[in-house]
Amino acid sequence: MKRYQQNIRRVVPYVPGDQPDFPDMIKLNTNENPYPPAPAVQEVLSKSQAEQMRLYPDPTAHQLNAAIAKVYGVEESQVFTGVGSDDVLAMIFQTFFNSELPILFPDITYAFYPVWCDLFRIPYEVQPLNEKLEIVPEDYFKENGGIVFPNPNAPTGIAMPAAEIERILQHNPESLVVIDEAYVDFGGESVLPLLNKYDNLMVVQTFSKSRSMAGERIGFAIGSPELIRALHDVKYSFNSYTMNRSALAAGTASVEDQAYLEEITAKIVATRERSKTVLREMGFQFPDSKSNFLFVTHPDCNAHELFEALREAHIFVRWFDAPRVRDYLRITIGTDAQMDALFDFLRKYLGK
Ligand SMILES: *Cc1c(COP(=O)(O)O)cnc(C)c1O
Repeated sequence: MKRYQQNIRRVVPYVPGDQPDFPDMIKLNTNENPYPPAPAVQEVLSKSQAEQMRLYPDPTAHQLNAAIAKVYGVEESQVFTGVGSDDVLAMIFQTFFNSELPILFPDITYAFYPVWCDLFRIPYEVQPLNEKLEIVPEDYFKENGGIVFPNPNAPTGIAMPAAEIERILQHNPESLVVIDEAYVDFGGESVLPLLNKYDNLMVVQTFSKSRSMAGERIGFAIGSPELIRALHDVKYSFNSYTMNRSALAAGTASVEDQAYLEEITAKIVATRERSKTVLREMGFQFPDSKSNFLFVTHPDCNAHELFEALREAHIFVRWFDAPRVRDYLRITIGTDAQMDALFDFLRKYLGK
């Protein structure tokens, strides 16, 4: 091997869910929202975006950050936006997780966390979920280089009450605690109100799920001005223009229409609750999800075989080839019609 080859950084990348493209497909595999984004978003994007393109975007993302600050009741100096929350979280890992002590996150959680640890050479230690697939707060009451987990957790969908997260914060005055609220708009309890009490808390959210904007790539973090400044310094040392013009405009339009967000998340929550009843009747078991997906297992069928059979029928769900979760499928909540088509397939498959 040549020296330049020896010097290549070898990483095992995160593998996102498939993006198949069939006209008749039912796509319930990557937690996208089945409804369109807010009407104002569509107006903004059809307006002369191409003409504006020759100019650089605002590197401070002022308009979008101010809109987010207003809606969530914080100062603009407490908001950081990035190209999806993946970009925001990667920047957070790089900026804040520089301890010799391991950072802590659950064994079953968002599979990107260990990938960033490997990429940025951050030591980490996973904390096993209990047998009900819940995060155990006490597991995080030990010395660490930082804490991160989603709430609700993915792919279980289980939400932790804000009071439990507060207990974790009380035991960790020396650590940054990052709560990834990618799914909080579907019924979880946000810890944004705790920011007034804890300067070591950072909350991350995304426009990809509840705001139907996965393709536009917008995520944000809210934290103390000191931490947000540090994130901006790292961003500007890497790429000043992470947010493009169309994302800044579309994101602002979305945030300015909270009523629409509430309308479509309520629809998804209603479909989720109905889906729980139907799936339970078919013999599926699952933790009580407060997200836009269900993590299901069935005593009489092999999850991987069912996953393949669904794929043959162009119904796409997610199966993880990982310890403890091989018997489960993660099913994104789609429209009522999409879920009914899934249920029809499952009834036939199970012979019911
Ligand atoms: C979807 C997801 C993200 C990232 O979403 P972006 O599209 O990059 O904003 C982050 N964390 C969790 C737990 C997710 O499920």
